[in-house]
Amino acid sequence: MNEHPSPYFGKKAVITTKHEKGKIVAPIFNTALGLQVLECNLDTDALGTFTGEIERKQSPRETVLIKARLGIEKTGESIGIASEGSIGADPFIPFINSDFEMMAFVDTELDLEIIESIRSTDIVTATKIVHAQEDLNEFLNRADFPNHKLIVRTQKTPTTFCIKGIDDEYSLRKAIESVKNKDPNGVVVIESDLRAHCSPSRQKIIGELATKLALRIKQTCPQCSTPGWGVVTYVKGIPCSACKRISENAIKEEVLGCSRCLYETKGKSIADTLDPARCDWCNP
Ligand SMILES: [Zn+2]
Ligand SMILES: [Zn+2]
Repeated sequence: MNEHPSPYFGKKAVITTKHEKGKIVAPIFNTALGLQVLECNLDTDALGTFTGEIERKQSPRETVLIKARLGIEKTGESIGIASEGSIGADPFIPFINSDFEMMAFVDTELDLEIIESIRSTDIVTATKIVHAQEDLNEFLNRADFPNHKLIVRTQKTPTTFCIKGIDDEYSLRKAIESVKNKDPNGVVVIESDLRAHCSPSRQKIIGELATKLALRIKQTCPQCSTPGWGVVTYVKGIPCSACKRISENAIKEEVLGCSRCLYETKGKSIADTLDPARCDWCNP
């Protein structure tokens, strides 16, 4: 028997999802915390969709918190989990897409909101605009089809017509034909279906994030023992190794903090000096 059992051992939580994220997240939370995670199947599309039929109005942070609370309201459980991803051009590496995922853990009994995030370039994404009869083999390979599912849609955004979750060649051909008929110029867009249950590479990233969040929940505040002790912010401002001027936005070290009280301590050092290539004066 563990001397310091998890504060969540034997408790129940609900994950709000339309796309089977419970399968990924439940075993991870169970192993790390002894928490039993049930799936609450709710249509969260009103908060925004991947395919752009409905635009997201809130920040990812607000969206995950709203989602987590929706499951709590619906089921009457006191603990809610939800995640939210956005996939697009990586802000740091040119010509590469990355997946930015955020996951929230809301405990209404302890009045806690714990959020973790992850950015990963290990996401399979592919898009092709098809104007006429074309050989799709190279594209389908790149898209890792049918392991990763596809969407076929009209070109205009927001999307007016689309067929999702395609995972066999017959359905793909049929979808291309029907979308072609909806477009005045017969143009069709084929792209990765990035919803969690259609994208194994995204599932893996969500799993990594769930592990990160579960481990954070396991860490308790040294002052008040509240779960969720971890990085709350960063100390910024480091000198350039060449010109010695201080870049105010460059990260120096982590600040660890509590989700409830104001106790904070110094975390891991990130850098002492800045690479001149990233310096605003040496490399404007
Ligand atoms: Zn410099
Ligand atoms: Zn505390």
